[in-house]
Amino acid sequence: MKPIREIVPLLYEPKQVAITTHQKPDADAMGSVLALKHFLTQFGHSVTVISPTNWAGWVNWMPGVKDVIDYEQDRQKADSILDKAEWLFCLDFNIFYRTKSMTEKLKELNCVKILIDHHQEPDTPSFDYGVSDTSKSSTCEMIYDLIVSSGHADKINNEISECIYAGVIGDTGSFRFASTHAGVHTLVADLKSRGLGHGIVHEHLFDNFLENRLRFIGHVLLNRMEVLYEYNTVLIAIPKSDLLKYHIRTGDTEGLVNYPQMIQGIKLVALVIDRDEERKWSFRSKGDFDCNTFARKYFEGGGHFNASGGRRSDSLEKTVERFREVLKENEKLLQ
Ligand code: 5GP
Ligand code: MN
Repeated sequence: MKPIREIVPLLYEPKQVAITTHQKPDADAMGSVLALKHFLTQFGHSVTVISPTNWAGWVNWMPGVKDVIDYEQDRQKADSILDKAEWLFCLDFNIFYRTKSMTEKLKELNCVKILIDHHQEPDTPSFDYGVSDTSKSSTCEMIYDLIVSSGHADKINNEISECIYAGVIGDTGSFRFASTHAGVHTLVADLKSRGLGHGIVHEHLFDNFLENRLRFIGHVLLNRMEVLYEYNTVLIAIPKSDLLKYHIRTGDTEGLVNYPQMIQGIKLVALVIDRDEERKWSFRSKGDFDCNTFARKYFEGGGHFNASGGRRSDSLEKTVERFREVLKENEKLLQ
């Protein structure tokens, strides 16, 4: 994989560009693909964003989201755009399987593939150019870096600012996670000086629940949360019946895994949701417990040191049972 700076001289010749990200894109994933699109279109490129799946309602306010193609809904159109693409940007993921049903299609494409990502253990041989940097707070920060280092900071308009800011607050937990280095605040200061209205982005992301979503959180914390003090761990297992009862849609469970971290002394939070096709795990840790290794070793997943995810194809009961077993193996690391 050649360094990302080598694409800069190639920016000036208009191309067919496709941009994609991981399944169920969150604020950083959707923010980064749209910010990049708004940047590239200013050079005359023809740019299409393709999401592997649908996305949460709380990213629907983002400028440009209406033109994003959902691969699962519009596969023929997406495939023909991918076939014509000269450049494919892969943002906020680093291994093709994270695009679910798009995986095989992306593997077979012969165009130039460019990676911009901040997760661990990238599959770099699959990309021609790219940057993979786990010290970055967010992929949105990396898009900002690309824009500034290319010498085109003047192209940062309000659309780009709002998308980048949304991804930064999403992935830093509103500036609280360890990934919030000084440069993140410098970036935000720069966006503010260019006219960013930060308050409206917070409102879009955090103050637009439907009543059922808040009641669902109440139900989960009251009835589904198990505090395992001997392991400094909280386990939450959500059966399908809860999702149906509370009319839970894509994105409604975002942030749920963070609540138990408010309990004194908790080092690991593990949340598993009984999705249709798989049991999807989310892990969050504080301090020196490595969630990435944990997810990779036991739950076919990965991510960051303090935040990761994984999956199992067995039943909810079985995967919870497995979690309890591996917790015992990790007892020392959790003290
Ligand atoms: P979340 O719990 O919010 O779904 O994911 C937490 C972090 O782990 C995110 O940065 C996400 O991209 C990453 N992640 C989630 N699931 C997986 C997975 O199955 N594989 C890998 N490699 N990373 C994941
Ligand atoms: Mn991210």
